[in-house]
Amino acid sequence: SRGIPAEEAQKALSEDLDHVWHPLLQHKTLRENPPLLMVAGHGATVVDAEGREYIDAFAGLWCVNVGYGRTEIAEAAYEQLRKLAYYPHTQANVPAALLADRVSRLAGMEHTYFVNSGSEANEAAFKLARQYHKNRGQPERYKIIGRYYAYHGTTLATLAAGGLPERRVKYEPMPDGFLHAPPAYCYRCPFGQKYPSCGLACARYIEYMIEAEGPETVAAIVMEPIQSGVGVLVPPDEYLPTVAEIARRHGVLLIIDEVINGFGRTGRWFAHQHYGIRPDLMAVAKGISSGYLPLAATLATDEVFQGFLGDPAEGRHAMQVNTWGGHAGACAAALKNIELMEREDLVGNAERVGAHLIAGLRSLSHHRWFGEVRGKGLLAALELVEDPDTRRPLAGALLNRIAAACQARGVIVGKYAGWSASGVGTGTALLFSPPLVLTREEADRIVAVVDEALREVG
Ligand code: PLP
Repeated sequence: SRGIPAEEAQKALSEDLDHVWHPLLQHKTLRENPPLLMVAGHGATVVDAEGREYIDAFAGLWCVNVGYGRTEIAEAAYEQLRKLAYYPHTQANVPAALLADRVSRLAGMEHTYFVNSGSEANEAAFKLARQYHKNRGQPERYKIIGRYYAYHGTTLATLAAGGLPERRVKYEPMPDGFLHAPPAYCYRCPFGQKYPSCGLACARYIEYMIEAEGPETVAAIVMEPIQSGVGVLVPPDEYLPTVAEIARRHGVLLIIDEVINGFGRTGRWFAHQHYGIRPDLMAVAKGISSGYLPLAATLATDEVFQGFLGDPAEGRHAMQVNTWGGHAGACAAALKNIELMEREDLVGNAERVGAHLIAGLRSLSHHRWFGEVRGKGLLAALELVEDPDTRRPLAGALLNRIAAACQARGVIVGKYAGWSASGVGTGTALLFSPPLVLTREEADRIVAVVDEALREVG
């Protein structure tokens, strides 16, 4: 076994429960039901303290795209940390420069502003969008349109741009200037319509909002191409091009959040590339370094960047800084991560094995709780309902039992249980976002385990 000695594990868990404050967990229950103590990983597999292996069908938190146990990334970071771990990004370092070039080419966007988390990447995008308009003499353009049930991060502004009530309510009031459009969620259409006869009412509504607010007050629209967290909402193909066209026509910047969608997850380097659009600003994180070290970035087109040029005395330059922005060690890890993804064609693998996984999940349609399977590449969800006719979401307690039954069989899945029990806004879903090294056999194992778990609980 590749676990760790029992005394070491007990000591770690006891210190954890005494001192680590975990997110999203009720600590009262943790002594009975302690968190998983993972100690190793290889490929799509993680190993717990006792040496038990699990297929991590969630890649940590949607992020270990290149898979676990990559010594080449560790070595690249080690070499850089020995030479120069860090110097502030108000100056230059070699890995940050090379990484900005590499990412710019993959994205077709020329400029990279480095930050440390997806939240900061979106927050920086909002700030850059507002300043862009100010620099161009339109200071009244400050509103940012997000979507209900979106997640863009944990800071106040990104929570405000997102639309997940369960994440926001305890921290209200939110900052001003954030508006919400309905999501492109055909299974639970906010307009009660059907695609294509709906005429893309959800995209058209964004234009209505811009008109109603006054286009001269709107700075940007922010969205993930595929809204991940609430159940992998894959929009109709024309949705994103329609939104991009509406944004352009009204002088509104389009901020695309590729924090989960990006770096190969959906079978393209970036998910918006499926839809033939070009963002003005883009947030990336997670897969940029596959979690080997924390790193994120906001990318901008040259057109946006030009809006920040001028005489130094005019003060048009970006007025923000992050201590760890462009961290040399993290950038070296990210460069190696991208090199491995290219060398092993992990983006192609995500497309191929993803199609196989999605087909496998669809084959579970005989189950009485099967609602819908959605996905692209290795980003997928199985929405579960009490009854396919009413589409009332399956209760969260049952979802938890299904996920626990998967875990007991050696597969870790993600899960989302919505805010409204009636299913008006959101549903209940198992979420899949495995490392992009996943094999067809591992995909088959995930499907078989989900099938067994559904039978056991249902
Ligand atoms: N955007 C999306 C779509 C996310 O899913 C997340 C995190 O899960 C974030 C932004 C925030 O990223 P971070 O947790 O790195 O701040």
